[in-house]
Amino acid sequence: MSSQWIFLSGEFVKKEEAVISVYDHGFLYGDGVFEGIRVYSGNVFKLTEHLKRLYESAQSIMLQVPYNKEELEQIIIETVRKNQLENAYIRVVVSRGAGNLGLDPTHCSQPRLVVIAEALALFPKELYERGLKVGSVASRRNRPDVLSPQIKSLNYLNNILVKLEANQAGVDEALMLNDQGYVTEGSADNVFIVKNNTIYTPPVYLGALEGITRNAIIDLANQNGYELKESPFTRHDVYVADEVFLTGTAAEVIAVSEVDGRKIADGKPGRITKHLLEKFRQLVTEDGTHCYPEWKDKAVV
Ligand code: PMP
Repeated sequence: MSSQWIFLSGEFVKKEEAVISVYDHGFLYGDGVFEGIRVYSGNVFKLTEHLKRLYESAQSIMLQVPYNKEELEQIIIETVRKNQLENAYIRVVVSRGAGNLGLDPTHCSQPRLVVIAEALALFPKELYERGLKVGSVASRRNRPDVLSPQIKSLNYLNNILVKLEANQAGVDEALMLNDQGYVTEGSADNVFIVKNNTIYTPPVYLGALEGITRNAIIDLANQNGYELKESPFTRHDVYVADEVFLTGTAAEVIAVSEVDGRKIADGKPGRITKHLLEKFRQLVTEDGTHCYPEWKDKAVV
């Protein structure tokens, strides 16, 4: 297999040679921002939306992305092409760059950009058929007025702590509540419930990342005639829901079969969840920024 190429601060380098300074504040302090993006059949899905979120995260932490959006878009596409990837996961990282051991970012002279693209197949079909076991955890979601979940920063400890709790509890994913006990999101995915044919997802101001898959699902739900409300709900609402599902770049749309030991409805993926997954998989092949126009008409493998 040919080696993997990584874009690192202005050039493509081989994976083995893609190294950054231990003085980089991304490493020392989690000072930086990132995005996770999917490529389906040579189409980068929702690239404009991902770049918007990346630049907004950077703006919020006063981090200068070393390229403009058009340049970064081309770098991302070129990274996919150079690695000859048809279906892939892309990680874009902008870190504050190397400074001294103090946390003051003014000593970091040059922000760093890293773009990694790796082959990625869909998750196993069985996972979508079985549904995930989810557990609510003791750790609360960062309060938006303390560290906004909209900043997709390299500081993911809040999420890692809840993932650790989920692992300890023997469940597939965590459900994070905010400081008032309202459901916010999973460790790396947004949450939806369905009750009496209405779809609900928490408003992001409660403390959830405004997921790009979440927004695509809201659009698809509206286009397909479902009633969808962004409104707060509690764990009780989740336990008695007709359907529960999670959304995210990696998981797409995935059913939840159990929450805190309570089986959701009959414990099988629900009708609306399955319908939205089907519509989402159609969308990802139709809608995207092409890396390889000749792959446009190929189905997702
Ligand atoms: N919430 C969190 C905390 C996440 O890290 C992610 C993954 N980016 C999501 C939700 C889902 O967002 P998206 O659909 O943009 O991948």
